[in-house]
Amino acid sequence: MARMMADCRRWPSEMNCSLVIIGEQDEVVQAAAEHAASVHGHENNEELRAQLRDFLEPADQYKPERQAEGALPG
Ligand SMILES: [Zn+2]
Repeated sequence: MARMMADCRRWPSEMNCSLVIIGEQDEVVQAAAEHAASVHGHENNEELRAQLRDFLEPADQYKPERQAEGALPG
């Protein structure tokens, strides 16, 4: 199954939240709903999860804004 992503930078919010969640759709919807409830104060209910399903994008479209600089640590 193709992985999906929820990019919190694209979610309307007053916070500059940079979280990106990637996984299979059900995993991402659950994790994003819990994140939205705990961090953004949304109600974790069926309406929120329906919005999140519309909000998901295919994970293969994810492009980091910055290239990693230098070698990996360690
Ligand atoms: Zn967030």
